Amino acid sequence: MLTHIRELINDAIKNNYAIGAFNVENLETTLGVVRAAVKQKSPVILQVSERTIEYAGLKAITTIVECIARDEAGKIPIALHLDHGRSFRSVAECIDAGFSSIMIDASEMPMQENIILTKQAADYAHRKEVWAQGELGAVKALEEAMTMSQRKPFMTRPEEAKEFVEKTGVDTLAVAVGNIHGVIKLRQGANQELDIDRLSEIHQLIPETPLVLHGASGLGPAQLSAAIKNGIRIVNMNTELKLEFIGALRKNLHQDPDAYDPRQVFSPAIEALAELVGKKLRALGSNQKA
Ligand SMILES: [Zn+2]
Repeated sequence: MLTHIRELINDAIKNNYAIGAFNVENLETTLGVVRAAVKQKSPVILQVSERTIEYAGLKAITTIVECIARDEAGKIPIALHLDHGRSFRSVAECIDAGFSSIMIDASEMPMQENIILTKQAADYAHRKEVWAQGELGAVKALEEAMTMSQRKPFMTRPEEAKEFVEKTGVDTLAVAVGNIHGVIKLRQGANQELDIDRLSEIHQLIPETPLVLHGASGLGPAQLSAAIKNGIRIVNMNTELKLEFIGALRKNLHQDPDAYDPRQVFSPAIEALAELVGKKLRALGSNQKA
């Protein structure tokens, strides 16, 4: 059931767990994530990126999510969110299309410019009763910042986080605390560290603001639970899901080179994705909460 993100997050705060936010690109990945949520009785955020909107069309991907949320998910709460909106225009289009949450990512801009664009997006969102997520500090990919010390200058500064939230009015905040975006970290088996002290300091300064952990593919259960104890309420996973889905697809095509029916080719990939998402939902503690 398509539900406002507020309801998912409020329950996560009350019962001390985090909501998984998983990227979907088409019918098949949407089915994979939703089937996992149904099986685990878990609330879930489905998020789309601007690239997905370019690929599938905003109306098509929104309709797919709405239909699956209604017809497959039953009473399982599902929220629809825009991941990494880069412009006011793309944010506004998603708000008008019925998303209950959007991200405006101006994290590459200087802080004051980030505040101006984020506030503009958050104000528009709030007029339509939609939640806004901002990002302060920048979550880099491994190829941009290899070591913890290279990532440090881009990390969220706790006192700035407080100012940012007060001035923009964002509902949720994506933080950079050592977390990494992208596929390289997984291909290289990089050991992702999180700066939990920094996260804890941010959480203590803005205890009412649910924090968002981007780039969480590859983080182990111990790191996830430390993050959840320190204010993380939304955990974004994308890369690991893509690798699983395409990996299963590749294996299936390889094993049966004569296969020609899309349904036969895609079904095992949907199942593999659902299996992985189920594992992630259990690690976040959101299973059996819906
Ligand atoms: Zn991200």
